[in-house]
Amino acid sequence: MLKNIKGFTLMEILVVVTIIGILAAIAVPSYISAVEQGRRDACATNVKILFTQVERYNLTTGQKVPTDGDLVQFLRGIGYLTGEELKCPYSNDENKPEYKLIYNRNEAKVYCTHCNPLK
Ligand SMILES: [Zn+2]
Repeated sequence: MLKNIKGFTLMEILVVVTIIGILAAIAVPSYISAVEQGRRDACATNVKILFTQVERYNLTTGQKVPTDGDLVQFLRGIGYLTGEELKCPYSNDENKPEYKLIYNRNEAKVYCTHCNPLK
């Protein structure tokens, strides 16, 4: 009687939905962790860029970069940083400086106030 009706049975649809669910359960966590790793890497790259420019300033001028104020704005102001704004991917505050510079026994250390706050 109803043998010629086209379509899927409930069992077929359930199997497909289950397979899609399993694939999503595998893919979503690895996607989220890849995004997180990308953010951490982007911030670590910013810190390396800033550290390199601080060392360049120290070696070129024989003076230390001031630790007060905005490090990025200071380096940009003297022409040591060009191009895109260096910004922590975790930052959502537009005005707060994210990258700080400290000196530990004359050794410069740049850190991010969002990802690596010193305690
Ligand atoms: Zn950061």
